Amino acid sequence: MMADLPPLPAVIRLSRGQGVTRLPLEAWVSGVVAAETPAGSPQAGREAQAVLARTLAWRGGDHPEGSLCGTTHCMAWTAASDPGARAAAERTRGWVLAAGNKVAFPACHASCGGHTAGWPAGFAGVSDPACLHDRWVRFWPRTWLDEVLPGPATLRVLHTPDGRVYQMRRGAAWRDGEVFGVLVGRRHGWHAVPSTAFEVRPRADGWLATGSGRGHGKGMCQRGAERLARQGRSWQEILRHYMPWARPVRTAVALAAAGWLGCSVSPAVAQPMPEKLAVSITTYARAVALGHFLGNRPAVPADLAHLPPGGVFVTWSKAGRTRACWGRLEADQPGLAAQIAQEAVRSLDHDPRTPPLSSLEVRALDLLVSLPDRPRPLPRLSWLMPTRQGLLLEAAGRKVLVLPGEAASPSGMLLRCRDKAGISRRVPARLWSFTTRTAWSGGRG
Ligand SMILES: [Zn+2]
Ligand SMILES: [Zn+2]
Repeated sequence: MMADLPPLPAVIRLSRGQGVTRLPLEAWVSGVVAAETPAGSPQAGREAQAVLARTLAWRGGDHPEGSLCGTTHCMAWTAASDPGARAAAERTRGWVLAAGNKVAFPACHASCGGHTAGWPAGFAGVSDPACLHDRWVRFWPRTWLDEVLPGPATLRVLHTPDGRVYQMRRGAAWRDGEVFGVLVGRRHGWHAVPSTAFEVRPRADGWLATGSGRGHGKGMCQRGAERLARQGRSWQEILRHYMPWARPVRTAVALAAAGWLGCSVSPAVAQPMPEKLAVSITTYARAVALGHFLGNRPAVPADLAHLPPGGVFVTWSKAGRTRACWGRLEADQPGLAAQIAQEAVRSLDHDPRTPPLSSLEVRALDLLVSLPDRPRPLPRLSWLMPTRQGLLLEAAGRKVLVLPGEAASPSGMLLRCRDKAGISRRVPARLWSFTTRTAWSGGRG
């Protein structure tokens, strides 16, 4: 069910002017919190914004290759984050919003003006009476309208039941309400059409518009979020209030669905494999990783060429501390060598917890390649041998796993699984165990 959710990127692409900058995920999150919410405002409101920023990164922007622009078009971002913004990112680390089995659309706006937009279809929007006083009045000269919506003297504004403008009409010509605001805003400044909730009245040489709120009114109202936070509500409660169709998930869920797992496996607990095969596997994996930086792919060694498909995990570490890890439990490549190559390349920049590896690190770090066997149903938790067996858990349509040695006792392994996926202890689960065979090679640094 969760299988369609993409992994959370470790690095986002920020397009500014002509160039694209790569930015660690959490630097994006704390920079958005700093730009979109006032420093010193209540933490829970800033945490809700952090979850929306991370969800946007998870979903990807509408710019080329999913990049984000760092303006209110995507979300505003600043390189100068404040301590509160960094704390908001840290306290929500790993949390994103899903809707059904998709990434939720993480919309937010400055102020709803009393009522948020009924969006997505099927939701009535949320009333937010404290935002009612947020009114605006603008005069729009006829020449402005002629630029974006030429036509006869009469201007008709059509509203949705929740008071948002969905269409502007002059004779036969029309514009979508939100597009109208963008077109006028581009020419005359973003304050020319502050929101999508307004009425117009004709004047001698133009129209007088009166409206409420700031922005498109979709998703979370930032002013309302700040208010709820001041009343002591948590970020979960704030997001549930404005986006009842979305549910917070910890990214471990998505990561497990994508085949990723937390990789604290150590050579001490894993079962070894024949020396010659281990050398061949680690040499090939490291060569593929290095080749990735040089734009080439080494030939598959003869002894790996005909091995049957299987899952692979690649872990880079130094002195027992994991630097990066990536892998899959179930094969999606035609043979083991292809799987090793795929996970070796992905391990370089897919681990959401850490920045991408450099080629120097690939030479210097210790490398562990783990080959999990097929999981077997585990009739009783107490039968699990935590130092030798990993645990795979399926509950509520989600799958998550921990590797051998991640906890000392069977119940500890189970707890880690449930924590990782955010699955409550009350939800019944199916369990499997699996073992891994591991090839290890030391780095040069
Ligand atoms: Zn953008
Ligand atoms: Zn509001």
